[in-house]
Amino acid sequence: MKIAILSRNPRLYSTRRLVEAGTQRGHEMVVIDTLRAYMNIASHKPQIHYRGQPLEGFDAVIPRIGASVTFYGCAVLRQFEMQGVFPLNESVAISRSRDKLRSLQLLSRKGIGLPVTGFAHSPDDIPDLIQMVNGAPLVIKVLEGTQGIGVVLCETEKAAESVIEAFMGLKQNIMVQEYIKEAGGADIRCFVVGDKVIAAMKRQAKPGEFRSNLHRGGSASLIKITPEERMTAIRAAKVMGLSVAGVDILRSNHGPLVMEVNSSPGLEGIETTTGHDVASIIVQYLEKNAMPGQTRTKGRG
Ligand code: ADP
Ligand code: MG
Repeated sequence: MKIAILSRNPRLYSTRRLVEAGTQRGHEMVVIDTLRAYMNIASHKPQIHYRGQPLEGFDAVIPRIGASVTFYGCAVLRQFEMQGVFPLNESVAISRSRDKLRSLQLLSRKGIGLPVTGFAHSPDDIPDLIQMVNGAPLVIKVLEGTQGIGVVLCETEKAAESVIEAFMGLKQNIMVQEYIKEAGGADIRCFVVGDKVIAAMKRQAKPGEFRSNLHRGGSASLIKITPEERMTAIRAAKVMGLSVAGVDILRSNHGPLVMEVNSSPGLEGIETTTGHDVASIIVQYLEKNAMPGQTRTKGRG
């Protein structure tokens, strides 16, 4: 197969590993700098150009679209979809997953366990909003944040009120969430490919920190997940419409709660922690599924 990888940087661990795994399995792997692909939308034959040449003949595309380039990256991916190229994750599903509130709304529709979460626009509604999530301590999140930036733990209601007011004043969309204290600064990353959790790891925040993100100094270790956690992760990815997803779960007193579903989960942490060849599993998924005409949306919606 000829497989495109949309990635800003061929030297990134995940990109390198996907190229390696694909090449090893006999495929032609082409890394395309997402922001250097440009499109001809007007023609009957939707085209993508790259460094002066049209991109043609691809069977599949692996989007590795960073949060800061979601808009343009999804447009490029959509163009591939319009050409009938099979996307590992579809553009609609990626844009959906990048909005935390929208994601939680979709998950709640299907009855998936979530931390109690509130959302409001007017500063007048802040006190009631805080009560809706059972008061302090609580977590405030910027809707389009990533890598733990824009996630704040407020120990008291007074602190929460000031932080919410500040974010609202800055015209930042935020949500307010119940703090799952019993998780103890840890969460579980379930790496889903197709309808399986193919690897899982526990991430523990460093001392004095509640955010377990590896980018915030968290450390990863092996973990055996429960059947309920496995089911929850698989269902969450399915609801989001993602074939490949990093589903982050908090262990609460009343079962697994999904915190977020990532559409471009990194490979480095999960591969080094579990020793699984995640890149090859992804390529094998494409081998099984990337048949012509299998793109569900073909760039729609
Ligand atoms: P980001 O997209 O920036 O990673 P997350 O929603 O995943 O944002 O939050 C970052 C980290 O903060 C999580 O990995 C988790 O360790 C911690 N965290 C987030 N929400 C909660 C919560 N409601 N209760 C306890 N810990 C939380
Ligand atoms: Mg996270």
